[in-house]
Amino acid sequence: MKRVLLKLSGEALAGDKKTGFDEATCADAARQVKTLVDEGLQVAIVIGGGNFWRGRTSESMERTKADQIGMLATVMNCIYVSDAFRTAGMETEVYTPFVCGAFTELFSKDKAVKALDEGKVVFFAGGTGHPYFSTDTATALRAIEIEADAILLAKSIDGVYDSDPAVNENAVKYDSITMEEVLDQKLGVIDLTATIMCLENKMPLAVFGLNEENSIENLMKGEFNGTYVTV
Ligand code: UDP
Repeated sequence: MKRVLLKLSGEALAGDKKTGFDEATCADAARQVKTLVDEGLQVAIVIGGGNFWRGRTSESMERTKADQIGMLATVMNCIYVSDAFRTAGMETEVYTPFVCGAFTELFSKDKAVKALDEGKVVFFAGGTGHPYFSTDTATALRAIEIEADAILLAKSIDGVYDSDPAVNENAVKYDSITMEEVLDQKLGVIDLTATIMCLENKMPLAVFGLNEENSIENLMKGEFNGTYVTV
């Protein structure tokens, strides 16, 4: 793989606190990504917003406004994590699909690919810029746009199971599964819109637990303990 899009779940970044950031988790993600960047891998990043806000769970307000807050939550996440990456010694750029003053740059594929070619880690903040979408959709969209080889999905759970392991103690983890099976069995690895985009555009996924030791590095070394979703 030459270029990947790493999706970090907001929830996983919060660690046990479930909200805000767990500094050690963010610093460790930065350390692992640096190893890969130093080896020449191009890394783009999308971060979810679940550690701050989810539009669809805020029933008391208009959905489009709630989703705007959600998109801004992902901008905060990217600003925080990109700073942790800089502290770890990487160069970063943060792009948004809407103007955010001097905080971020307006997304363009050409600018993002140029930055990746220069060895910078690029962050795609603000989701797609539209309500009713998710950072899963933004992940699929941006991965396809920048012609990534795969999406690396770092979650608070360590792979894809046939049922929810939090509910069913006999849930079985898949080593590998096809995107069509994910769709047919409604496994909810990524949301439906994103799954269909990945299927149509042949974008594979590698799903793993962010909190497992060296999970990002291990994936690239072939010592992977999560689930491959093939296309
Ligand atoms: N969001 C949005 N459009 C996007 C991406 C995100 O409206 O393109 C909002 C939405 O409110 C979502 C929140 O940002 O709930 C956080 O994104 P994430 O994908 O983490 O949310 P989840 O899928 O967990 O609801």
